[in-house]
Amino acid sequence: MFDYLIIGSGFAGSVIAERIANVLNEKVLIIEKRNHIGGNCFDYRDKNGIIIHKYGPHLFHTNNKKVFDYLSDFTDWNIYHHQVLAFIDGKKVPIPFNFNSIKQMFPETLANRLIEKLLKKYKYGSKVPILELKKENDTDLKFLADFIYEKVFKNYTAKQWNKKPEEIDPEVTARVPVFIGTDNRYFNDKYQAIPTEGYTKIFENMLNHPNIKLMLNTDYKEVIDIDFENKKIYFFGQEFKGKLIFTGMIDELFNYKFGELPYRTLDLRFKTVGKEKFQEVATVNYPNNYDFTRITEFKHIHPVKTDKTTILYEYPKEYKKGDTPYYPVFTPENRQIYNKYREYAQDFESIILVGRLADYRYYDMDDIVEKALDVFEEKIK
Ligand SMILES: Cc1cc2nc3c(=O)[nH]c(=O)nc-3n(C[C@H](O)[C@H](O)[C@H](O)COP(=O)(O)OP(=O)(O)OC[C@H]3O[C@@H](n4cnc5c(N)ncnc54)[C@H](O)[C@@H]3O)c2cc1C
Repeated sequence: MFDYLIIGSGFAGSVIAERIANVLNEKVLIIEKRNHIGGNCFDYRDKNGIIIHKYGPHLFHTNNKKVFDYLSDFTDWNIYHHQVLAFIDGKKVPIPFNFNSIKQMFPETLANRLIEKLLKKYKYGSKVPILELKKENDTDLKFLADFIYEKVFKNYTAKQWNKKPEEIDPEVTARVPVFIGTDNRYFNDKYQAIPTEGYTKIFENMLNHPNIKLMLNTDYKEVIDIDFENKKIYFFGQEFKGKLIFTGMIDELFNYKFGELPYRTLDLRFKTVGKEKFQEVATVNYPNNYDFTRITEFKHIHPVKTDKTTILYEYPKEYKKGDTPYYPVFTPENRQIYNKYREYAQDFESIILVGRLADYRYYDMDDIVEKALDVFEEKIK
């Protein structure tokens, strides 16, 4: 009855389902264990009419026109430029740390000297990873690097990953740069926007096709059996001859044959506050104080007039089987385990792996949309 089975209805699964239905005009069933579509990008309106991102704040930003145009078929956008402040020594300063943060943090003469030296060394408008700045020999720049490292980076990283920054893959640490300039925006991409009616509406529009059927509240293991020895897939006991597109955890798919892949999870605590606005911008980071990493106020992202506001505290914690696997933990050992799974997966021609859990990668939304479009073109079409 179905030509394709897709596990997971996040961007990876939904983009591929949409392409199969619209481009190939073939039939697809999406199996999703949660009670909603959209994966970690799912949002909803709470009782105060505020759009909430259930799995943490999601800000769309990309330089990829193809991805932006593709998604624009399923949503209108509100222009939105995300800003983040960090609470440091009693002050809230822009993040990434930039010239405005330097001026707010240090006495005028020192601040001017630091800015002058940064400008001599780095291109205006560039981003310098903090671990690179830390290698500087100049006393002033070394002082700045150590300050940012200690006050902005180290404790935040410890809370987020339970590791020292050096123990984390540079792919992750590069995400926390120093910005050479005065742009207070968190991202500098060409396209920065929020879907007018939220992310869930994008998924509803993508999946609204007679060729696409959806099975919610269903772990794939309830309906699919994989005979690993003979490389056969069974769906409700019948051999399934089509393709299985898997966007869940690669270690789970192969019964943890090579061991568990570690993740970090989050304890997300939402709170309604009885005032119109709670903080200056959407997100304020707390690197050194408290046990949470940041507070996000959703009204800044989706403006709405109400006398209440909803905020979210994020507490990172160790992942245990059954928790939501938010962030893969990149270490050489974990990559090795992942590579074993990936190699093993090559023996299964009818299984296509795609998505942040199947690829054990940190993908932004634009990355995964691009990846899913590529997988469709290269492996399915
Ligand atoms: C806290 C947080 C904040 C983020 N913020 C941003 C941001 O600001 N900007 C940005 O661009 N990106 C952001 N991202 C990244 C974004 O969430 C991902 O790029 C995107 O969700 C990846 O889509 P996916 O389809 O690969 O995975 P997911 O969205 O995780 O979808 C996978 C789906 O598979 C389902 N599934 C898993 N196992 C099974 C099973 N056994 N049976 C059935 N179904 C199963 C899951 O329930 C889920 O719905 C953020 C991520 C996190 C965790």
